[in-house]
Amino acid sequence: ENILLDVQHLKTYFPIRGGVMRKAVGHVHAVEDVSFQIREQETFGLVGESGCGKSTTGRSILRLIEPTGGKVLFDGTDLCTLSREQLRLKRRDMQLIFQDPYASLNPRMTVHKLLEEPLLTHFHLSPKEREEQIQWIAQAVGITAEHLERYPHQFSGGQRQRIAIARALICKPRFVVADEPVSALDVSIQSQILNLLMGLQQDLKLSYLFISHDLNVVRHISNRVGVMYLGRLVETGSTEDVYRNPLHPYTKALLSAIPKRDPSEEKERIHLEGDVPSPADPPSGCAFHDRCPHCMGICKEQPPQTRELEPGHRVACHLYNP
Ligand code: SF4
Ligand code: MG
Repeated sequence: ENILLDVQHLKTYFPIRGGVMRKAVGHVHAVEDVSFQIREQETFGLVGESGCGKSTTGRSILRLIEPTGGKVLFDGTDLCTLSREQLRLKRRDMQLIFQDPYASLNPRMTVHKLLEEPLLTHFHLSPKEREEQIQWIAQAVGITAEHLERYPHQFSGGQRQRIAIARALICKPRFVVADEPVSALDVSIQSQILNLLMGLQQDLKLSYLFISHDLNVVRHISNRVGVMYLGRLVETGSTEDVYRNPLHPYTKALLSAIPKRDPSEEKERIHLEGDVPSPADPPSGCAFHDRCPHCMGICKEQPPQTRELEPGHRVACHLYNP
C-alpha cells in the first residue's frame, strides 16, 4: 500500500523560560524522536495519557507548531522544508478536527458561511459550484438545509462536531488529524461520530491520525496504533497485534486498565507506581523506568532502541534486546 505520511525522527522542543529576562533555561522535549507512517486510507491511532505529546505531535506534523527537527514527508514532500506560502497551498490537503468544535467555529457565522469560508480560501469556484459543494458535504455529514442558516450555539455538541467535520472535509483533504474528536461527547453520540468519520474515510479515501486517550475508541477506529509516553513512541503495530499481544510494559499497563469486550482477554490489572514525570525533567535512560515493574539496571542508564519484533510491530524496551 502507498504511504501517504512518513514521519521521521520528529522532535518538538519548547523553551522553558526563567529569570527576569525570560531567557530559555532549558527545553521540554514534548516530542522526542517520533517516527511512524500512515498509508493511504488508513487510520493510525495515537494513544497515551494526557500530556504525553499526542496533540503536539499532530500539530507539529501539520506545522501548526514548528517542529524542532526531523522530517514529515507528505506524499514524498518534506513539509518541514516548505515556505509559509508553499505550506498554505498544501493546507487544503491536511486538516485538523479537535475536541471542542465550539472553539473552532466562529459564533457569528451561520453554518452556511462556515462551510463556504474554506472554499473561498482554497478554490476559485463559481457561486453555483460553491453551493453544490456545500450541499454535498452538508448531506454527507447529516446537516439539513434548514440547519445551514443557523449559528453554532444553536446546536448540540454532537451536531457541532458534524459541522466541524464538514468544514474540515469540504475541500476534500487527503489527510486529517482528529485530536480527541469524540472525547467531549456522550457515549451514544460518540459512536455516531466515529461511524460518520469511518464512512467519510471510505467515500473520500482519507487517511486519519486519530489521537485519543480512550483505548477502546482507538481500537474501534484504527488500523494501526502508536503508544506514546513522555514524548516518545514506545510501541507501534497493527491494532490487532498491539491489543492482543502488547509488548511494552507501559502498553500492557494501559491495556490492563480498560474493560474488555471479550472476557477471555481480561487480565490482571497492572498498577503503575507514581505519576507521569514532568516532561521538563524526564528520567534518564528509559523515560518509563521509575514506574516500570520490569526495570533493570540498564534501563536507568541507556534509552532503549526501537526494534521490530514481528513484521510492523515495533517496541522500544530493553526487555527485548537480543
Ligand atoms: Fe521497563 Fe526497562 Fe523496558 Fe523501560 S526499557 S519499559 S524500564 S523494562
Ligand atoms: Mg491533547
